[in-house]
Amino acid sequence: MRKFKAGIIGATGMVGQRFVSLLSKHPWFEISHLSASARSAGKTYEEAVKGRWTMEIPLPANAAAMTVFDAEDISAASGLDFVFCAISLEKELTKQLEEAYAKADIPVVSNNSAHRETPDVPMLMPEVNAGHIDVIEYQRKRLGTNRGFIAVKPNCSIQTFVPALHPLYDFGIEQIAVCTYQAISGAGKTFESWPEMVDNVIPYIGGEEQKSEREPLKIWGQVDGGVIVNAQKPVISSQCIRVPVSDGHMAATYVKFSKKPPADEIIERWRGYKSLPLQLALPSAPKQFLIYHKDDARPQTRLDRDSGGGMSVSIGRLREDCIFDYKFVCLSHNTLRGAAGGGLLTAELLAAKGYFDR
Ligand code: NAP
Repeated sequence: MRKFKAGIIGATGMVGQRFVSLLSKHPWFEISHLSASARSAGKTYEEAVKGRWTMEIPLPANAAAMTVFDAEDISAASGLDFVFCAISLEKELTKQLEEAYAKADIPVVSNNSAHRETPDVPMLMPEVNAGHIDVIEYQRKRLGTNRGFIAVKPNCSIQTFVPALHPLYDFGIEQIAVCTYQAISGAGKTFESWPEMVDNVIPYIGGEEQKSEREPLKIWGQVDGGVIVNAQKPVISSQCIRVPVSDGHMAATYVKFSKKPPADEIIERWRGYKSLPLQLALPSAPKQFLIYHKDDARPQTRLDRDSGGGMSVSIGRLREDCIFDYKFVCLSHNTLRGAAGGGLLTAELLAAKGYFDR
């Protein structure tokens, strides 16, 4: 099988670096194009990330010598099968840039939030709402493209608690309260670049609470009339807090059902959850999507964030609550499952379903 030619827009950033690492030995995709801001354009990738390569693996040789292009130079990306996009840019400009790539017939798999509320753009968590890719044909009609489209992945904070709640959806989830404890890499930072976070907690992450409350309703929505119609329920209340952790978002979650299930059935559903990415043998699909720990001291960030190559969601401490029905804690790796890994799994789903073939 020929490998798909993938580009990375925002290749020099925290998420972009993850994409470069994950794609360095990918069985289906090869890095064929890297771009970032005008500040990095014209440099080799090695020069552009000098002093800010934060990944655990050394800079992959296949990317190091590549020239970084200006992300606005869309003609430089012609001939690619698709691009990943992860840039820090103002929302309207990000929207326009992603749409310009799609209109140039280059499919965009985006980590940015700009298009998450666009009704015919699927916001995908492949284990949860893969069926939303059906909306892409309608989007292509609106954009007037043959192969170009935009697919996005949701915010990293909801990739902790939505996967855990999804297998319980038919018990009628009425209310969720969630407090997320989010790693500094979620802001594109390390302890070196954000020393104020050492021994500190900041109770505010701009825009994150609104995203945590709204995005699950699109994930649990339905494709209808060429758009995704959001679910009406559950009501979600969230608080998002930055904590001194390098990678890994944790979420203390409370839930109320219309039909309260027994605790052992909840655990059985988590352990037995059959995911489409595994059935399709997508290369980044973890063997076990949801891992339930009996030990009261788990999940722990350092012990569990890398489970399933950073693509599993770890859950623990399920117990009854005196206000809601149940409470529990869950954890996922924010730059793997919550960012580049989730984007990569989405691209694998799209490739497996033929969306990059035309
Ligand atoms: P980052 O580390 O700040 O990287 C930003 C990237 O955007 C760099 O490649 C930068 O290029 C590029 N860029 C900045 N201004 C640009 C411009 N005017 N035109 C083109 N490219 C430009 O940010 P990040 O943490 O990787 O996040 C990137 C996106 O992913 C954001 O939308 C973020 O919300 C989203 N996201 C992040 C996470 C996470 O865990 N970090 C999780 C989910 C989603 P230069 O190096 O040349 O400046």
